[in-house]
Amino acid sequence: MTQTFTLNDGNNIPAIGFGVFQIPADGSTYAAVREALEVGYRHIDTAQAYFNEKEVGQAIKDSGIPREDIFVTSKLWIQDFAYETAKATIDATLEKMGLDYLDLYLLHQPYGEVERAWKALEDAKAVGKIKSIGVSNFTPNFWKQFVPKFATLPAVNQVEFNPYFQQRELRELLAKDKVVLEAWAPLGQGNRTLFEEPIITRLAKKYDKDAGQIILRFENQEGIVVLPKSTKKSRMTSNKDIFDFELTADELAALRALDKGKGTHDPDAPGVGEYLLSAYDIHAND
Ligand code: NDP
Repeated sequence: MTQTFTLNDGNNIPAIGFGVFQIPADGSTYAAVREALEVGYRHIDTAQAYFNEKEVGQAIKDSGIPREDIFVTSKLWIQDFAYETAKATIDATLEKMGLDYLDLYLLHQPYGEVERAWKALEDAKAVGKIKSIGVSNFTPNFWKQFVPKFATLPAVNQVEFNPYFQQRELRELLAKDKVVLEAWAPLGQGNRTLFEEPIITRLAKKYDKDAGQIILRFENQEGIVVLPKSTKKSRMTSNKDIFDFELTADELAALRALDKGKGTHDPDAPGVGEYLLSAYDIHAND
């Protein structure tokens, strides 16, 4: 049984999920999701802007695993934030994935018509097309700007998080509303320097685990949902084998001390919204 966390809307979310960012839709996403389900993942994280929702849906269908046993997330891209467009896009995602509902749908980025897009998510939730709704890449600034205007609190905020970037200020804000933080790039996108930190290699030796498992277990014990990505079956398997050991309070403190307070992506930087909008045209092949 996968460990779960309870969201502020009462639904449960598996504590570990398989992310499919940058896996191409040339059969590779299908193969990766089939393998991930085979090795035991029951939570898949995709997005409109990953261009692979269809293969995720097909892999879920062909796995033969009951739909209710798999937690499926997708995300609305900023290009589609206008209310009517957002509503139509949610239906298009469901159709593309061959699903009747999504477990979680996120506003992928905090730019453009955020409030109208959020209303579309709320309305889709009200009619059962989405079970839980959340946001992504909301820094403390964006959280304070938008969330007080939302009628429904986000259930999650999916942001960059790893031992080098522990999002302290944001986590204080989220804790007040029992909002779960989901870590994107929980392994620092495979950052070797992070994997070779002495405290991490020491703990790996002590627990007979690898560096990735120590990092993911640390994040898990911090109450964070982790979405590691690997296209290799051996790593898919090891990355989820993190629940048979427990880091001590002193070890957690030592890992907290790795925080540099800065990540690779700064959503607050000027021009990021415009850049992202021009970088991903999700309707190029419509
Ligand atoms: P991750 O931190 O998951 O790192 C993935 C990289 O690490 C890959 O290169 C992988 O290589 C390598 N890797 C995986 N496991 C191990 C291991 N055990 N030891 C050493 N290297 C390893 O970064 P991602 O950017 O992929 O983030 C994960 C997920 O988060 C995405 O797939 C997506 O779902 C989500 N995401 C969301 C964003 C957002 O804006 N909301 C932005 C970015 C990501 P290999 O495949 O060769 O194993």
